[in-house]
Amino acid sequence: PVVTRFAPSPTGFLHIGGARTALFNWLFARRHGGKYLLRIEDTDRARSTDEAIAAIFDGLSWLGLEGDEAPVFQFSRSDRHAEIARKLLESGHAYRCYLSAEELAERRRKAQEERRTFRIDSEWRDADPASAPADAPAVVRLKSPREGETVIHDMVQGEVRVQNAELDDFVILRSDGSPTYMLAVVVDDQDMGITHVIRGDDHLNNAFRQISIIRAMQDVEEGWRMPEYGHVPLIHGADGAKLSKRHGALGVDTYRDELGILPEALFNYLLRLGWGHGDDEIIAREQAVAWFDMAHVGKSPSRFDLARLQNLNGHYLREGDDARLASLVAARIAGSPDLAMLEAAMPHLKVRAKDLNDLAAGAAFLFAQRPLEIDEKAEKLLTDEARDRLGEIHDRLAAETDWTTEMLEVSLKQMAGELELGLGKLAQPLRAALTGQTTSPGIFDVLVLLGRDESLARIKAQAK
Ligand code: GLU
Repeated sequence: PVVTRFAPSPTGFLHIGGARTALFNWLFARRHGGKYLLRIEDTDRARSTDEAIAAIFDGLSWLGLEGDEAPVFQFSRSDRHAEIARKLLESGHAYRCYLSAEELAERRRKAQEERRTFRIDSEWRDADPASAPADAPAVVRLKSPREGETVIHDMVQGEVRVQNAELDDFVILRSDGSPTYMLAVVVDDQDMGITHVIRGDDHLNNAFRQISIIRAMQDVEEGWRMPEYGHVPLIHGADGAKLSKRHGALGVDTYRDELGILPEALFNYLLRLGWGHGDDEIIAREQAVAWFDMAHVGKSPSRFDLARLQNLNGHYLREGDDARLASLVAARIAGSPDLAMLEAAMPHLKVRAKDLNDLAAGAAFLFAQRPLEIDEKAEKLLTDEARDRLGEIHDRLAAETDWTTEMLEVSLKQMAGELELGLGKLAQPLRAALTGQTTSPGIFDVLVLLGRDESLARIKAQAK
């Protein structure tokens, strides 16, 4: 059975790249009827924060990408990691290295001077442990293979190989006894039963080292399995450079809170960012589960494009349930706006909106207090002549007993006909008076949404 995981380091918010990694892992597990797990890689004690952990959980749950089991916290498993380091040591797959940091720095400097690539060649690799200095601090290094090559059949990158001679004897246990990231990841993946490691391709180099640990442990005890790997290219900005804050590499919460994006839109967008199914743009959750595969994950970095995300968001707004949208929009309007009124307005507002902010801005006129603030453009429409006419409109509408779009339309068209004017000549100043703006939903819808009393009062306030 397939088991995947998302393993963020809680040193910052859940950013767009992390969310996409989570999404691909979630989809792959769902597609294969497997499990998707979360692991918080909180071993960097100085940089890991509770706020970051909370932000990651919050972002994941908003996107519907919670883990299938309680999350694993890596730091709490340090003893287990150290236990594996001990086993590697005892079985001769690792060794205590007493080279000091100064000594290593000196060797690195020399290599640079002589233009050699530096590789740690510790004399402790093959030294007799009995010759070890007493009480001197030591790190534990893995005895990396020296011959042959390591090949990864990566689900995204295809065949990737490295000469083992290029792999250093890297540290698995620091001199204070704490496990390194390289070791912790391998042990946790093994204990969590991870079958497929899907992550950013910035981890491809680590994979070779992680494989060395697994191979060594396979030699030590039964049951160690090699996962499949899928290293997904990172996301770049529209200009092709690696995604940074400048490009909108923001936390998922920013897309939700500040940009007014719906979770299903971000889900769809992230899916299409680096994975494709022909020309299909709109792919909702269920369809994504049915279609997702690693074979169609692109090999080159995808470019983040906010306008495309907003386009998709507009689509999901139009498809969205009006009651749900109304409550999301209500949170963006001061006071406690009438939800029923907002819901009634949604079908008219969402036609052109690209995010929740647009909806909130479009709905603002509904809850505006009298006297209405009239914007500059609208003010220009309210000429003396227009204000005279608003008086007539007021009286005509006041006599209207049936306050429906249909009847209001009949009534205003009739009036326009009598005055030998285009309907627009009436509608424009009317809109200005009712909304304080020059754009709004259809004028008859505006009248109905505001209701009879409020409409008449707003017209009267601008009439002469
Ligand atoms: N914690 C690592 C990161 O946030 C991911 C490690 C992994 O997926 O193996 O980049």
